Amino acid sequence: MRGSYERTKKHREIMSESKKGQVPWNKGKKYPQISDKKHYAWKENGVGYNPLHSWIKRKLGKPSKCSHCGKIGYGHQMHWANKDHKYRRILTDWIRLCSKCHMNYDIKNNNYKNPIITTLK
Ligand SMILES: [Zn+2]
Repeated sequence: MRGSYERTKKHREIMSESKKGQVPWNKGKKYPQISDKKHYAWKENGVGYNPLHSWIKRKLGKPSKCSHCGKIGYGHQMHWANKDHKYRRILTDWIRLCSKCHMNYDIKNNNYKNPIITTLK
């Protein structure tokens, strides 16, 4: 187990350096905070979660890096944000944002009533 612990530690170091990087070092790995109950409770609430989000996740995967500030996040820390809030099924209409940037983005676009944001406030 010691070996795997050290590997995890190494990964953390990589993570802190990978803000500018593009290597999906965490691909396929599970993290406790992702399978955390809260994460699913948030999902089960149904607010802000619709087939569109499943669709975008299927197409583009789970967002892990904010395209605005470059922050790496997991689970509900990262969102798919729709650029024009028309929620069309156009891949280029979607950007990855961390919860903070998403909130700012939606405030700027007068879309603060977005249920995702209300949930995460
Ligand atoms: Zn961000």
